[in-house]
Amino acid sequence: MNKNHKSKEKSLVLIKPDGVQRSLIGEIVKRYERTGLKLVALKFFIPTPKLVEKHYLIDDRWLESVGGKTIESYKEKGQKAPFSNPIQGGKWVLEKLKKFLSSGPIIAMVWQGNEAVGIVRKITGGTEPLSSDVGTIRGDLTLDSYPLADTDARAIRNLVHASGSPQEAAKEIRVWFKPNEIVKYRLIPEAILYDVNLDGIKE
Ligand code: ADP
Ligand code: MG
Repeated sequence: MNKNHKSKEKSLVLIKPDGVQRSLIGEIVKRYERTGLKLVALKFFIPTPKLVEKHYLIDDRWLESVGGKTIESYKEKGQKAPFSNPIQGGKWVLEKLKKFLSSGPIIAMVWQGNEAVGIVRKITGGTEPLSSDVGTIRGDLTLDSYPLADTDARAIRNLVHASGSPQEAAKEIRVWFKPNEIVKYRLIPEAILYDVNLDGIKE
C-alpha cells in the first residue's frame, strides 16, 4: 500500500500523569487497540516542562482555541469564565499544563490506521470529563470539570492527550519520537481491515 494510503494515518496519544497514577494504562491502551489501530511507537518517561511547552505550541492557534473553548464551556453552563481574552486564557492554561504533564511519568504512543486522528478523538471524548460522552475514556474513567480546575488554578485532569488533526499529529510525533523510533511492521489482522481481495482466508 502506498505511503499516502489512509490506513497510514497517525495520531499521537499521551497518557497523562493522572492516567498512569490511576493504574489506567492497560484500560486506555485496550480501548485504542481493540479498534484495529496499530501501535507503532511507545515510550514511558517524565517529560520536562520545556518539552510539554514545545508540544502545545506547535499549532500557533492553539492558545486562542483552548481559551475560546473554555469561555464557550462556561457560557453553555450559564456561567462566566475566569478570563475573557482567549489568548490570555490559553497562556494561563499552558503554564498549568507544563506543571501537570511534568509532574510524573507519562506514556507517549503513536497509533496508525484509517482516520487514526478521528477514531482516537472519538474514543478519547471531549476535553472536560464532566461533559464528555459516556463510553469515552474521559467520560467513563474520570470526573474533572472546568470550574474545579479553574478554582484550584490547575490543568484539567482528563487522562489523555490526542492529536487534533493529521498535520498536527505529524508535528507532535516529531516532538516526542525520533524517526527511527516509529516501528515499521505488518500487523497480521490488518488484512481483514484493508485487504481489497481477501483471497488468503479460504482453505
Ligand atoms: P484537548 O486535550 O481536548 O485537545 P485542548 O487542546 O483545548 O483540549 O486543551 C489541552 C489541555 O489543556 C486539555 O486536555 C486540558 O488538560 C487542559 N485545559 C484546557 N482548558 C483548560 C482550562 N480552562 N483550565 C484548565 N485546564 C485546561
Ligand atoms: Mg488539543
